[in-house]
Parts: sequence; structure tokens; C-alpha cells
Amino acid sequence: MISKVHHHPTDEMLTDFTAGNLGTGLSVVISAHIELCEQCRLRRTDLENQSAALWEQEASMDYQGVTGDFGPMLAEIHSKLDGVSQETSVHTQPAVLSEMHMLEGSVRLPKVLAKLAGEGLVWKKLSGGINQASIKLDDETTCEFLYMKPGSQAPIHTHRGNEFTLVLDGSFSDELGNYKPADFLSRDPSHHHQPRSDEGCLCFAVQDGPLKFTRGLARLLNPILGYRFKQVLSRVR
Ligand SMILES: [Zn+2]
Repeated sequence: MISKVHHHPTDEMLTDFTAGNLGTGLSVVISAHIELCEQCRLRRTDLENQSAALWEQEASMDYQGVTGDFGPMLAEIHSKLDGVSQETSVHTQPAVLSEMHMLEGSVRLPKVLAKLAGEGLVWKKLSGGINQASIKLDDETTCEFLYMKPGSQAPIHTHRGNEFTLVLDGSFSDELGNYKPADFLSRDPSHHHQPRSDEGCLCFAVQDGPLKFTRGLARLLNPILGYRFKQVLSRVR
């Protein structure tokens, strides 16, 4: 059973997600969180109901007192609204997780991530006991599964863009807190952090810019990381 979730996407992100304004990478990480988080399933339903209510209000203001040809149009709007409320009831269903064997053990993944992982992951070893399997989802982001071995620690880094991380299994901590399964973290360029994991941790992370290391030898990697990110982007353009 999943423990209580403490870290969630902002209202703004959920609204953009609900309106279909986000690219595939961000949509996947938010959708996966929603599968794991009852609170965000309910928030999403609320946001959808609010926008549906606004729409209904606007429709009735525009066409108030107008009869004739607009009758069928209003009927169509109402049937669409019925469709929305039927769909939102599906979102409140508890998540069905798929069990997958990844690296050293079995983990239960949200459906959207199980589907991606099921298409085949290539794991690469990074320094500090961290393994990474990248997935190409869109032109704006880099997406990856990250596995931190027990006792591992990443170099201190900031981000040139934003990074969104969903914890899937185990836990990790940084200067700002301790994160458990289903927690959703946002990090922007003002954050310096150094994730570490005592028990090991599997995450799914989406970045809209490359990492920037801030200390020691790892700083030498900065131009390479920037170059690699540009290469990844140029390959798909
Ligand atoms: Zn949530």
C-alpha cells in the first residue's frame, strides 16, 4: 500500500495538464503521479468541474433568451458536459499498477510508465551508484528512469531548466526533504541540491534543461552535459 503523499504538482500544472497544454514528457510524469495520488485525482476532477461550470455559465449568458437554431447547439454543449463528467468519474478510480522487474528487484509502476518501460529500457551507469535509462518522448524535455543504489549520492547540482521527479520505489532525500513513493518534486534553477538514498530509490524524472553541477570535478562535466542535451534535441528536430 502506498504511504501518504506529501509532494504534489501545483494547481497551475494540473490545470495545464487537464487542458492538454503540456508536452508529452510533462504529461506522462503528471499522469503517473495522478495514478498514484488520490488527492490529485480529486483535485483534477474539481478543476474539470470548475471549467465545465464556467463553460456552462458562459454558454447560458451568451444565448440567454435566444431560441430557435441555438436549441440544438445548447443541447450539444450539454451532451459534451455530460461526457466530461462521465470521464472524470473514471479519474477517481484507484490506480491499477503493473508489476515489472527492473534492475535488482520487482517494482509496481503506474500504467503509463509500465507501458514505456515495457517497450525496453537501456540502463547506463553514472557516477555515485546511479543508473539511468533515458526515454525520448518529445522535443522539449529529456525523460529518464533513475535508479539510485542503496547508499548512493549524486553530485551537488542546480538545473538550468526545471526538473520534475516522481518517486516510484524506495526513497531519497536532499537538503529540502525526504521523498517517498508517489511524491512529485519540482526543482527550478534556484535550487542547489544533492540527492542521496540510503535504502535505494527508483524515480522517473523529466527535465526541460540540462543539469548544472556546482562543485568539484563534476563541474568539468558542464559543457559536456550542455552539448549532450543540445545533441539530443537536434537529433529529433
Ligand atoms: Zn498528488
